[in-house]
Amino acid sequence: MKASSALGVSGAEDKMRIILLGPPGAGKGTQAKVLAEKLKLTHISTGDILRQNVSKGTQLGKQAIEFMNKGLLVPDELVTKMLTEMFDQPDAKKGFILDGFPRNIGQAQTLDDILKQRNMSIDMVAYLDASEPVIIQRLTGRLVCSACGANFHTKNMPPKKDMICDNCGSSLYQRADDQVETIKNRLEVYQKESAGAIQYYEKQKKLHRLDADEEAETVINNIIHLTAQYNDSPKV
Ligand code: ADP
Ligand code: ZN
Repeated sequence: MKASSALGVSGAEDKMRIILLGPPGAGKGTQAKVLAEKLKLTHISTGDILRQNVSKGTQLGKQAIEFMNKGLLVPDELVTKMLTEMFDQPDAKKGFILDGFPRNIGQAQTLDDILKQRNMSIDMVAYLDASEPVIIQRLTGRLVCSACGANFHTKNMPPKKDMICDNCGSSLYQRADDQVETIKNRLEVYQKESAGAIQYYEKQKKLHRLDADEEAETVINNIIHLTAQYNDSPKV
């Protein structure tokens, strides 16, 4: 694609540190996966890491599952510990896209502290804004691959074979928290918690708002456009 070849994969841009903010169903996971590949960045999804811990039955997974199934936030100290470990992995040094973190102002401040200790900082925050009917339609139809994590949708993006992943052939499932009632809880929690984080990045002049009701490809191109602007300006 034109935008990605213009950006290239080496140079300052491969060290970019990007946050995707926005409500559940805005498409953060979908966009982050594509962007990570195009921009050669590490995709860090706190939701995915938590779900992996749940399916492996780790201590963290056992502590997190009851919060996740109710659509509540997992307590900050658990998520922070998990994330700190991620930033000590060599992959994080290549630059990253954070998806699902931070979710409140406390997590935003903690993130800055963790990064500062490692001589890193956030370059830009893309805020994916989506409307409630779109969110509910996307989440109630979402199908997730049990092996590779790829996302499909019963109507918007159906798999070629019923309930089978196009990428790896494993079975697809519906997330336990993608039921209408739980989605409404997640949206409520999101509205209450995220305002502080949004303001935090607005004050730092790092926040860019995007219309995430648009098609995935449009949103991705808009984000790539933003990253290109960043790479044009001098950067430490
Ligand atoms: P969504 O953004 O669609 O709710 P995620 O996959 O990002 O989906 O998160 C699923 C669940 O994992 C959340 O409802 C929450 O319980 C937990 N979770 C993910 N990220 C965080 C976080 N940063 N802080 C607390 N809980 C989190
Ligand atoms: Zn798969």
